[in-house]
Amino acid sequence: MTNTDWANKDFYKVLGVAKDASQAEIKKAYRKLARANHPDSKPGDKAAEERFKAIAEAYDVLGDETKRKQYDEMRTLFAGGGFGPFAGGRPGGGTPFDSSDLFGGAGAGGGGFADVLGDLFGTGGRRARSRARRGADIETTATIGFTESVEGVTVSLRLAAESACQACRGTGAKAGTMPRVCPDCEGVGMRAASVGGAFQLNETCPTCRGRGMVVDDPCPVCNGSGRGVSDRTIQARIPAGVKDGQRIRLRGKGAPGEHGGQAGDLFVVVKVQPHPVFGRSGDNLTLTVPITFDEAALGADVKVPTLLGAPVTVKIPAGTPSGRTFRVRGRGAPRKDGTKGDLLVTVEVHVPPTLNDEARKAVEAYKAAVAGPDVRSGLFGS
Ligand SMILES: [Zn+2]
Ligand SMILES: [Zn+2]
Repeated sequence: MTNTDWANKDFYKVLGVAKDASQAEIKKAYRKLARANHPDSKPGDKAAEERFKAIAEAYDVLGDETKRKQYDEMRTLFAGGGFGPFAGGRPGGGTPFDSSDLFGGAGAGGGGFADVLGDLFGTGGRRARSRARRGADIETTATIGFTESVEGVTVSLRLAAESACQACRGTGAKAGTMPRVCPDCEGVGMRAASVGGAFQLNETCPTCRGRGMVVDDPCPVCNGSGRGVSDRTIQARIPAGVKDGQRIRLRGKGAPGEHGGQAGDLFVVVKVQPHPVFGRSGDNLTLTVPITFDEAALGADVKVPTLLGAPVTVKIPAGTPSGRTFRVRGRGAPRKDGTKGDLLVTVEVHVPPTLNDEARKAVEAYKAAVAGPDVRSGLFGS
């Protein structure tokens, strides 16, 4: 994801829904578009992949009622050309207010508008003057099924993230009240300190402690800090062919950056649940198939299952030793280029633990019939 302004993206347009669409309509539109542009259905189609990403990003916001509300509010503010008391620059000649700085990190990280308010009002002026900082990397775990690991899957990950306090929406002021511009520094956060003589120094405004805003009635939930922790849910694409224990890096899906800094990355450690029958070796799937002695000795057509399709028949030639592996082409795991690995079928001769009378006689007759050189003679020196 790029650091494009959240505010400049029309997520409604991306999903092709009206501004007043219901959550159900949004979900429906998302599903339809996601299916149509799914990377698996159009392998190698870069444009579709970009569309899929944009769709996922739009749904990440609009699909979540809280985030959607924040997004709507933010767009309304920007559409009006104003942004609270800071519109057009900080009063008193401070650093001009640059919305692109604000939304770079937040938009990329999905933290959103509430985080921005938190930065503005929460810890305020001091932070506003600090330099851009990249958001932290986050690591999380996703457990997926064996078949999902072979085919690829989109998972929903719930992440705890620092965000604006929900009660005060990051302002630090009790719900229903707003912080006001500090009367002593007029919102600058600094004021001239007279030290006598020809020098004049600036010092941090003691009334607002540099925040530029004063809160008369602090929010009881966050004690006026404006900060809180919230869950966010993101959709992460686990590519086909992922292996157990593999770490997948999702750029820009970590913690939001500060003051225009890039968002951190999200690392997803994938746990793949084992399959009761199939195993995996690179792009190939493995399968152990029991056969009877007569099938091994006389040859047979053996029907075996495949992971993603219909069963196939493997021709076992007469005289096949136990442990021989047969290759079924194209029935393995999908590769990035759209081709598939193979299914490696290893036969294992099954020996019955007991024999009925008739079978015992037949085996004894067989033993007499094949009396020949000792099969273990090669183990001993001459
Ligand atoms: Zn609060
Ligand atoms: Zn002040």
